[in-house]
Amino acid sequence: MSRLVVVSNRVAMVKQSRPGAEGGLAVAVRAALRQRGGIWFGWSGKTLERDYSQPSVTEVGKITYATVDLTQRDYDEYYKGFANSTLWPLFHYRLDLAEFTQHTWAGYQRVNALFAHRLQPLLKDSDIIWVHDYHFMLFADQLRNAGCKQKIGFFLHIPWPAVPVFTALPMHREIVKALCAYDLLGFQTDEDLLSFQDYIRREADGQVGKDGVIKAFGRTLRTAVFPIGIDTEVFAGMAAESEDSKQVIRLRKSLLGRDLIIGVDRLDYSKGLINRVEAFEHLLTSYPDNRGKVVFLQINPPSRSDVTDYVDIRHELEATAGRVNGTFAEYDWVPIRYLNKSFSRRVLSGFFRSSKVGFVTPLRDGMNLVAKEFVAAQSPKNPGVLVLSRFAGAARELDGALTVNPYDIEGVAERLQEALSMPLKARRERWQSMYSAIARNDVTAWREDFLEQLNRGIQGH
Ligand code: UDP
Repeated sequence: MSRLVVVSNRVAMVKQSRPGAEGGLAVAVRAALRQRGGIWFGWSGKTLERDYSQPSVTEVGKITYATVDLTQRDYDEYYKGFANSTLWPLFHYRLDLAEFTQHTWAGYQRVNALFAHRLQPLLKDSDIIWVHDYHFMLFADQLRNAGCKQKIGFFLHIPWPAVPVFTALPMHREIVKALCAYDLLGFQTDEDLLSFQDYIRREADGQVGKDGVIKAFGRTLRTAVFPIGIDTEVFAGMAAESEDSKQVIRLRKSLLGRDLIIGVDRLDYSKGLINRVEAFEHLLTSYPDNRGKVVFLQINPPSRSDVTDYVDIRHELEATAGRVNGTFAEYDWVPIRYLNKSFSRRVLSGFFRSSKVGFVTPLRDGMNLVAKEFVAAQSPKNPGVLVLSRFAGAARELDGALTVNPYDIEGVAERLQEALSMPLKARRERWQSMYSAIARNDVTAWREDFLEQLNRGIQGH
């Protein structure tokens, strides 16, 4: 079996000892590397600690972790700049927030080239290479320029936007041309795949075959859908155990028998947090029986707080949640508990299991793993209900969720009310169908499917 080389912006170097402590992707990638032997390559997370002329290399068993530091300028232009102030907002349909500057684009190109050149000496001819996410779309092109002939696959964890949105990016053509240097491009949903293929036909004068094989920019490659999963069984087991943990007991006691609605997201403008709070406000207005009887726990670990738009969304959210609490709170009940900090996945799993409703309403999301984790965490005997945005990739698989349009505040409030009052039989049926889907397509199946297709290559072309 060929050695596997994984490239991602961040590298999960330190293995957490307790099962479930790490996210599913880190576990899945490490398991594949342990099986086949290989390298996990990416940014160290540090700026300017050392000259990045050589990667820093740590060997643990059959896995080599190789990381590179960034200069402050690279961090500003590549990571904070082009990746998170141009690509992230644009790919999440926030054209109003996307910034276009030549110097951040130059920084993105420079870091892609530099990382590819740092990795190249570590490669063997028989390796297969799997590059992750929007930070490294130019990576394969850079490796090809340096003469690399290995099979190289790319998986995009975020959405691929529709043609009119994507073409607002001045360098759209250069990016797609570079993507065509890969052998396999993986997307989260059919919609993402179709948007990409649409671009190939309409803008790149390329051809798209029925089997997802595309011909464009002088290259032939495969495109396909691989909806990412979670470590379903581990997460379910952890949730059942965590039910009796100190924090979860404390949370349940604090509710005094009230129903819990839970939301958990990085504090990001793509997550629809303002709309969510407004929908909850609407629930309290249009169904006043809920006053004093439900609690909405919203957990928002801060994220990318050096990007202005993230500071703005935090202020707006705090003002909105404060207004709702100011309007409705009583001396013995506060409707929204807004927490600006992170929790371990273990504690979260117990919080999910203690909740009547999982409230997941992104305006746009590649997949949304929290939605799947909420389902995995439920007690089969008495499961909660998932209220899920149609704009999350997860909505394609989780057919038992109450699907909502997060822009329709009144509609979301109606679905919340339906979730809070849903009879046990309907909750069980909905949950069973969702659990089967996430148990079947867990993160291991996802990884194996991608690597199998990358390995197989394009037959008959
Ligand atoms: N998460 C966590 N602690 C927190 C909040 C979130 O461990 O306080 C985890 C969560 O369990 C999930 C991941 O972070 O595994 C978030 O993934 P998702 O796809 O929902 O959103 P992203 O942050 O990737 O946009």
